[in-house]
Amino acid sequence: MLNKTKVIVTIGPATQEKEQIKRLMMNGMDVVRLNMSHASYNFCTDIIEKVNELNKELGLSVATMLDLMGPEVRTGKFTNGQAYFRKGDKVQIYMDEVLGDSTKFSVSYSDLIKEVGFNSILKVKDGKMMFEVIDMKEDSLICEALTDGMIDDHQSVTVEGVSLHLPRMSKKDETDIVFAHKMNVDFVALSYVSSQEDVLAASDILIRLKNDHIGLISKIEKEEAIDHLNEIIRASDGIMVARGDLGADIPLERIPGVQKKIIERCHKAGIVSIVATELLSSMERQASPTGAEVSDVANAVLDGADAVMLSNETTIGKFPIETLNMMERIINSAEKDIDYLEFLEKKEESDTDITGMISHSVAQCAGRLKCCAIIAPTMSGYTARKMSNCRPRCPIIAVSPNEATVKSLQLHFAVNPVLIDEIPDFDKIIEVSKKVTFDLISTSPGDKIIITGGYPFDKIKSTNFMKIEEL
Ligand code: PEP
Repeated sequence: MLNKTKVIVTIGPATQEKEQIKRLMMNGMDVVRLNMSHASYNFCTDIIEKVNELNKELGLSVATMLDLMGPEVRTGKFTNGQAYFRKGDKVQIYMDEVLGDSTKFSVSYSDLIKEVGFNSILKVKDGKMMFEVIDMKEDSLICEALTDGMIDDHQSVTVEGVSLHLPRMSKKDETDIVFAHKMNVDFVALSYVSSQEDVLAASDILIRLKNDHIGLISKIEKEEAIDHLNEIIRASDGIMVARGDLGADIPLERIPGVQKKIIERCHKAGIVSIVATELLSSMERQASPTGAEVSDVANAVLDGADAVMLSNETTIGKFPIETLNMMERIINSAEKDIDYLEFLEKKEESDTDITGMISHSVAQCAGRLKCCAIIAPTMSGYTARKMSNCRPRCPIIAVSPNEATVKSLQLHFAVNPVLIDEIPDFDKIIEVSKKVTFDLISTSPGDKIIITGGYPFDKIKSTNFMKIEEL
């Protein structure tokens, strides 16, 4: 199945073994996500090394993403990793670290006590558990549980209607970005972004590290970020609709509309969009999804998302491989219903430069001539990104000798990035293009491909040619 919509898989205890990662890689996982709210450096190092080894072994270029904890409040640890609370229970919430149980737990933000008051509502685990402040001590809040439920270690905590005065970039996030740089990670996802400045703070760290290849993905998970969407898009390489935390900050019924708006704005701006969280949630516990979940995945594809993401389904779920397979099947079916022409027409007005004009023409020709692939030899990935943004009906095969470029393209709709030794001379490019097409796609004699790029390959930064070839 050569799907166009990319799949990000979060790795956790249920998928940490090399054999499981291998199966995920062979079944369509494009990007491995590590969630720094839960994962230790040892865990991340082990997973990244396994992915690197498997990429070599399988001839793949699966990319890696470090999702930072962000300036957020989390619960501390619990005895046995979790505790159950009943509605009406009195619970003491400490500002300094304590090992939690069903009568107490701690939070990671010591100033929380100064920023809440009597009757404030604390939402834990994306709002699935709620506590009301009924008394305040010097070092802790006395709360009443308003719901029944289980809380695990390190769950998110927000306060209803209160924007907490958390630092723009926490010490942990800074250290995690340096770790991402050292481990040669491909994407860093920024949690709880509120404005362009938050993204620029992360960019500054990368500039100081002289790292020009990590792609910055801004997670939209609060109202303030929706208000500053355009400026956040301008500073980012991609946007994630982080529906878990977003649903704790805005009314749940607004999420579908916000999701559509974000995807559309990203498409217009030419950056990637990712739809995340609870896409196939019931598959954490059972081997098949609900019809509503299938519709949710399909609608993300039809809206034009570049990628969809699995979280708990693959970190702690019982059926991680089955979930990925199901995701790929839904994507495959939904992609047949995409209105590719409508997406292309939407791009027509904004693509007025030479690269835009050529990529637009390539997508149009590929559709009319029913081409089986578009081949984009690329050093920086520019042509492939532009082509992806035109949403062609056929796959784009991006060939590059630059490993960082190849991996940076793993989140882009329809792009199949392939690492090659070197981009050959112009007269050899047709031969190489035909070979990569035969390797990836089942073809018939007479099928057509379009080769497009910027020539001379290593000197020019824009796209300046297209060539149609018959196989
Ligand atoms: C989300 O809230 O939807 C999300 C993706 O973020 P996290 O998994 O870090 O809570």
